[in-house]
Amino acid sequence: MTLLRIKNGYDLNISGAPTEALEVLASPERVAVLPAKIPFIKPKPTVAAGDAVRRGSVLFVDKRNPRIRFLSPGGGRVADIRFGPRRAIEAIVVVLSPTESEESFLVMSDADVEAISRAELIQYLLDGGLWPMLRALPFRDIADPDPNLRPPAIIVDLGAQEPFLPQPSVYLDAQTQLFDRGLALLRRLCDRVVVYGPQTMKAGQNGIGSRVTHTYRGGYPASDPGVMVYHTRTGPEDNRSWYICGQDLLAMARLTVAGRYPVERIVAVGGSESPVRCHVKTRLGVPLAHLIGGALPAGARPVVGGVFRGYGSDPDGYLGFYETSLALLPEGPDEEFLGFVRPGYGRASYSRTFLSAANPAPLFMDCNFHGEERACVACSACNRVCPVEMLPQLAFKSVLTGEIEEVLAYGLLDCVECGLCTYVCPSKIDLCAIFKSAKRDYHKEQVAP
Ligand code: SF4
Ligand code: SF4
Repeated sequence: MTLLRIKNGYDLNISGAPTEALEVLASPERVAVLPAKIPFIKPKPTVAAGDAVRRGSVLFVDKRNPRIRFLSPGGGRVADIRFGPRRAIEAIVVVLSPTESEESFLVMSDADVEAISRAELIQYLLDGGLWPMLRALPFRDIADPDPNLRPPAIIVDLGAQEPFLPQPSVYLDAQTQLFDRGLALLRRLCDRVVVYGPQTMKAGQNGIGSRVTHTYRGGYPASDPGVMVYHTRTGPEDNRSWYICGQDLLAMARLTVAGRYPVERIVAVGGSESPVRCHVKTRLGVPLAHLIGGALPAGARPVVGGVFRGYGSDPDGYLGFYETSLALLPEGPDEEFLGFVRPGYGRASYSRTFLSAANPAPLFMDCNFHGEERACVACSACNRVCPVEMLPQLAFKSVLTGEIEEVLAYGLLDCVECGLCTYVCPSKIDLCAIFKSAKRDYHKEQVAP
């Protein structure tokens, strides 16, 4: 077992964390898939409003490679296809029928998994709608299903350091057999499978600790597969490693065991404004309001997919294909009366100018920027937290002046899009968004067909 000690990073200890209790929710009335929240794809719908669909029917394909299909998370009728700016498909909403019908897929025994060819397995996962769970570094696009392309490694991500993500101790509970099935599937795709989890997992964790090959110690985002690759790579080809999150690996295994499109998801719900703070067992594409059992509280912003990496959603939104967390955070006041003389004992801040630096309790956090963007003051805070030593302070200036070769030399492709540099920047420069957009542009120019 290899232990990685990641020096940079930062743990944000904020109030409202979900407990490890698991509540099982009843089925919602409707579910949705949100193509606009799946990076890089160009969705082409295969259904129209009013069509009857089964759980596991194809809703849309990726025009870049129509073999990549996205399936319906429920059986019923397509109620709506919502379009956003420039006719981008934002959501395909399915009203569930009380007697959901479903597509069936091949059930595999352990011997079948050992006997299946790599090309057949890829086709099986494409047909079963789970191929998009495998993503490729450095861009984090869906892995290329060309059977002739092999990644140097597949990393199973068992980390959950970002505040309010589902804990592996909850979703892996009593799932050892399924987890082993998932690993067996990955081994058919790639000779090197790495299981990356926190150092605390090595001893046990429901028997899964013994499957962990690499552990980490360090603040967020030490658990990120991209950080692992950065600190362990032996050559440039390692930068093309694939990764999959632990819960998605279980879904893949479930498909082979049950022969049904697996829609079960464990979602972490929390935040200081949330009436519910625990893990919930629900299904893919669930409405956000369903997760807390009623309308979202006024004045709270629903943040889906993590406090650092997630996005603000509409209150009537749904959980996206990759997302497994909902945090309800206060919007925050536009201006705080005499805010500049308050000691800030309970306020989350990277800066040690607040008294909260000496407060070990979970701290309050709202969505207010508490200031406006201004020029970089060369404080180096972004450099100190960057887990891949990218020097964001210099790199962002090269992006803004269009010096792409220079940005690449700073390590743009190593950026794991963790959002820490943005969080700590006292000048409120959205560094992470700048790097993310530069990576997308580079992907479009160099990699995309
Ligand atoms: S540059 Fe990228 S990896 Fe470094 S802190 Fe910013 S977002 Fe994270
Ligand atoms: S944290 Fe912001 S102000 Fe400080 S060096 Fe980085 S970009 Fe400049």
